[in-house]
Amino acid sequence: MIATPQMVYQHPHKSIFLDFTPQKKGESNPQKLEHSPSQIRALEITSSLQMTLDYKELIEKFSSEIKTTIPHESIHYSGPQPDVSFSSGNKSQYLCTYLLTLNNKPLGELSLTRITEFEEKEMTLIEPFLRSLLYPLHNALAYKDALQLALKDPLTGIPNRAAMDDALNREIKLAHRNGSPLALVSFDLDHFKNVNDHYGHSNGDAVIKTFVRTVKRCIRETDMLCRYGGEEFTVILSHTDRNGAIRLSERIREAVEKTPFRTKELTIPITVSIGVSHLTLDDNSTSLFNKADAALYQAKTDGRNCVRFSSSWYCPVNQKKMVESVVN
Ligand code: GH3
Ligand code: MG
Ligand code: MG
Repeated sequence: MIATPQMVYQHPHKSIFLDFTPQKKGESNPQKLEHSPSQIRALEITSSLQMTLDYKELIEKFSSEIKTTIPHESIHYSGPQPDVSFSSGNKSQYLCTYLLTLNNKPLGELSLTRITEFEEKEMTLIEPFLRSLLYPLHNALAYKDALQLALKDPLTGIPNRAAMDDALNREIKLAHRNGSPLALVSFDLDHFKNVNDHYGHSNGDAVIKTFVRTVKRCIRETDMLCRYGGEEFTVILSHTDRNGAIRLSERIREAVEKTPFRTKELTIPITVSIGVSHLTLDDNSTSLFNKADAALYQAKTDGRNCVRFSSSWYCPVNQKKMVESVVN
């Protein structure tokens, strides 16, 4: 696609605002340029950048592609969202920054640094190169958003089952490698069908959101809360042993009981049953999950609104025996 650049120089050596708006059909291109060596190089860079959808890899590739023409010590990119950023190399004294937009959509800020000042000539040279970065960068950011969306539960915004499976496998590998403890907590809201039947589905949804907020208040940033199914949740507790996991689970259970869902008109009490398991040497994600699930089943059998721990001598044939009661 042909692009018409509109450029506003804020400072010749420090900052350039670039807005590349695609040309409308039939419009002549006032900026139509000869194929200069730098444009040919820009085309080469475009095809090289199209090889990846990872924005970090993309910025690194861009840096190495332009290095011979515009030598620099480091490159820094911060995207339009706070969780998107990447740096490579050691930051130096002189900095030039570019604000990037495509079709009026902000794509973030790109900076180069080095020990000597950037020259006017170089600033002109870099523009076609930046243009070659815009579409690949736009695609990489869209890909990242799509991936994140696929791993999020739309109702609560927390990770979904697919994200949990990934995270659990990763955490188990780490825990086995480092010999560190790991616990899994499984939650199921009590009599949730009744909530829907008595108060309606949208109040049911609000109860789920209240529950998630309450649990989040009890756990650390690093503990991963996932929506595993409809009214079923898990928390992966890395670096947490059996006793720590049981204590935390009991705290969550109490907090949920004390935090009903309230509107002006109604109060819906919430209780949750909880099963806890901890990682042993021969566990994988399935066995760890099954143990927590069996403990949860026991919590339901024992009257709900309680925490049960599954010991490591888990035996599916004799479920009653395998579960230790920790909270009566
Ligand atoms: P128990 O104490 O044994 O867990 O009883 P329960 O009624 O919670 O168990 P059951 O699994 O029979 O019912 C779960 C209900 O959760 C059924 C389903 O309609 C409801 N549910 C699942 N996902 C959602 C959701 O996203 N929103 C709402 N409002 N309800 C949901
Ligand atoms: Mg259920
Ligand atoms: Mg339930």
